[in-house]
Amino acid sequence: MNFTMEIPKEALAILSTLQSAGFEAYLVGGCVRDALLGRKANDFDIATSALPKEVKALFPQTFDSGIKHGTVTVLMDKKSFEVTTYRIDGDYRDNRHPDHVTFTPSLREDLKRRDFTVNAFAYNPKNGLVDLFDGLKDLTEKRIRAVGDPERRFEEDALRILRAVRFCAQLGFTLDEDTRKACQEKASLLRNVSAERIRDEVQKMLLSPNPEILILCHELSLTPYFIPELDVMLQTKQENPYHFLDVGRHSLMAVKNAPMDPLLRWVLLLHDSGKPIVKSYDEKGIAHFYRHEKESARIAQEVLTRLRLPKKFVHKASFLILHHGDVFPPKEKSVRREITKVGIENFPLLIEIQKADSSAQSEMARKDHLERIAEVEKVFAEIKEKEKCFSLKDLAVHGDDLIKLGIPPGKEIGKILKDMFQYVLDNPQDNTKDILLSKLDSFR
Ligand code: ATP
Ligand code: MG
Repeated sequence: MNFTMEIPKEALAILSTLQSAGFEAYLVGGCVRDALLGRKANDFDIATSALPKEVKALFPQTFDSGIKHGTVTVLMDKKSFEVTTYRIDGDYRDNRHPDHVTFTPSLREDLKRRDFTVNAFAYNPKNGLVDLFDGLKDLTEKRIRAVGDPERRFEEDALRILRAVRFCAQLGFTLDEDTRKACQEKASLLRNVSAERIRDEVQKMLLSPNPEILILCHELSLTPYFIPELDVMLQTKQENPYHFLDVGRHSLMAVKNAPMDPLLRWVLLLHDSGKPIVKSYDEKGIAHFYRHEKESARIAQEVLTRLRLPKKFVHKASFLILHHGDVFPPKEKSVRREITKVGIENFPLLIEIQKADSSAQSEMARKDHLERIAEVEKVFAEIKEKEKCFSLKDLAVHGDDLIKLGIPPGKEIGKILKDMFQYVLDNPQDNTKDILLSKLDSFR
């Protein structure tokens, strides 16, 4: 095949330095796949027959980023490239790490240890494309297929099960039949994979153009090992006029409608996770989900903590979920009140969440809800425009003013300031020290 890959000049320099010293050197993995697909590559990884110490001797600036596995990072004009010695992975006794690696002079051996055929290409300008496992055929037919026996490959490293699905989501590919069967067959090995590695894969699925791939994870019985809550959501029908999808599919559609931001996408995935618990029916047989926001916030906190998202992230996500159903009219007073309630930094996020949520509802609900949100956005823009958007520090009265009047430092002061603030939102003209202090009694 006639294929010329565009390569950053620094990577080209590394390839030719290695080759001039008598070693083999190729670009490998994702960057070749992405070039063939016309996608922008994340990073340019290099594989070579040179041993790590030989690589280090050839370049002035290197550091040992993964020396045990043969990886040396080469710095070239401030850009960094991972250069890894051809290797064979030893036994995987724990379904996640090779017990040891062995260096090899054979490119074929190195490509054989890679997970999928479309990730097992090598390329350099001198030799062109190396495709030893029919990766091109799979690439053209948009298929993720394991290199070698899929069951064995998943036994070696169970994370590959989720990687297979994640690449399908990112590239819009489907699973090869045998690879698919093996995913399902070996699902329980996900027990041995760390929560952090699982989280990274799930987050990549959420941030892909096809987050509904999580339905496939459910169908392949993968979800029980990292987010059983989604299984329950996918089995919970909504049975009311506002929805046309079950809780799980609605949530995934909302994820897809949201901007590609990790916080927003996790929030939308979990915003209705409490619905299965609170579901009730009225006398007409219509389902209701009263106070599901609170349950959802609690479940989200559990799920995100279990998947080791950072504490602050978990807290923020859970807070936004608690408020995702806040409905308020598109009036200045109400919008201001909501801003005070959720915080000015969260308010625009809340709007994005409500938009994505509403666009995944039944046609009837969608139109009304989106109209209200559009109005709210207008009002919010006006508020910002007027720069009247107060925070507590813009209040004309401060804590020390109250202390001077003999109110002891502590909780009471906090409460008075909050109430005054609320009052000033509704009565901006009264934001002067004299007026507010003259009304002090009404705030106590
Ligand atoms: P991305 O665009 O996500 O960076 P990538 O294909 O470059 O995709 P990486 O995780 O960066 O994926 O890994 C680089 C290459 O290393 C892969 O293309 C694959 O050949 C190999 N690889 C990575 N992880 C595994 C694994 N768990 N098992 C086998 N091979 C792997
Ligand atoms: Mg990569």
